[in-house]
Amino acid sequence: MNHSIRDFVAQLPIVDVHEHHLPEVIHQREVNLLQLFQQSYAGWALTRPYCLPSESRDADPMLAAAPETTWEALQPFLNQCGSNSFVRNLVHAIGELHGNGETEITQDNWQAIDQSARAAHRRQEWQQEILKRAGITTVITDAYNDPLLDARPALGANYHSVMRTNSLALGWHPDSRDHNGNSAHEILKRVGLSAGSFDKYLAALEKLMDGMAARSQVALKNALAYDRDVHFDEPNERLARATWGKSTPSGEERKAFGDFVVDHLCRLAAARDMPVQMHLGTGLIRGSHPLGVAGLIERHPRTRFLLMHLAYPWSRDLLGMAFVYRNIWLDLTWSFLLSPSHFKLALHEAIEILPDESRMMLGGDNWHVEETYGAMLAARRLIAEVLEEKVASRYFGRSTAERLARRILSENANKFFQLA
Ligand SMILES: [Zn+2]
Repeated sequence: MNHSIRDFVAQLPIVDVHEHHLPEVIHQREVNLLQLFQQSYAGWALTRPYCLPSESRDADPMLAAAPETTWEALQPFLNQCGSNSFVRNLVHAIGELHGNGETEITQDNWQAIDQSARAAHRRQEWQQEILKRAGITTVITDAYNDPLLDARPALGANYHSVMRTNSLALGWHPDSRDHNGNSAHEILKRVGLSAGSFDKYLAALEKLMDGMAARSQVALKNALAYDRDVHFDEPNERLARATWGKSTPSGEERKAFGDFVVDHLCRLAAARDMPVQMHLGTGLIRGSHPLGVAGLIERHPRTRFLLMHLAYPWSRDLLGMAFVYRNIWLDLTWSFLLSPSHFKLALHEAIEILPDESRMMLGGDNWHVEETYGAMLAARRLIAEVLEEKVASRYFGRSTAERLARRILSENANKFFQLA
């Protein structure tokens, strides 16, 4: 073996377990450089696109059209937020894909880069070309604006999707909607289901899950950390039932209804061996600590939970949970974009504390393939660096390092989602 661990990791295929590749974004043929920044986490560095309880918004800023790129319009990203990790990742990826390897976007090169990005996105092949160049064989997308998306016809034969369940946990009234504007009652109507009572609603959710395989949906996705706190407590059925049909239930009633539905979905998921992917950390940060979901995980020992983002900034708490509860897997997605240096520290610990090698997998979490490309380059580099350090300190040998890398990048996801 004379290749480096870095070279070994660089050539491994990736099963990407989390993206926000949406048909209406991926298939746009007019995409300029400014839009790549706006529809990315670099955009989040500039403006948080989701509301805190004290705020409101009219439309999703991530899906707004971008005006023409100008040097002035790029300034907030490049100068004001230029040291942020999301911006660094995107600048590196764009420099490589549209700028002949330039490491910065400057007053001298931005117009050529803008031209290149616009020309690339006019070609339908661009999306799949970049996935291939990133070494991504399979993508699981979370189309939060369409929880019933059948991703194969919409995005490509190498896609699957997850079914967002936020609106279902908020479905006490036909007018109630999640933070992405989804209504449970409209979703049910789309597949010919309706719910005239609380019991019929629970039965309809079961039928909705039965339809997932036909839509190549491979997991439920709970992103309620953007709608409410993640303390999914022991369900209070009496209060949940009493909430049904109310247009303005109290906070206590909303929580009871959501707790009950989340519990119901976890039970249905266990019966179908369907994984539950869950956002933890950041979001509505006062209520997104991973220990908030500990009760739910204990009540559903046969449900397989894929907990996301290393619950940043509470990665150590999450790792402790993943040691105690053996129905937890870790989706490393986003954690290496949020903070590459924290990711390395956490990955060292994760390797040491996780009970077995099946527990970790990763994704990009992005809207455009440029950012996905950058995310995967970063993940490969950081994982290789950690494995090199582990081998250098004689924690384990080269063959264990390589086996673990193969598992994290593709094998664990294939098994977990029963893809191959
Ligand atoms: Zn995401």
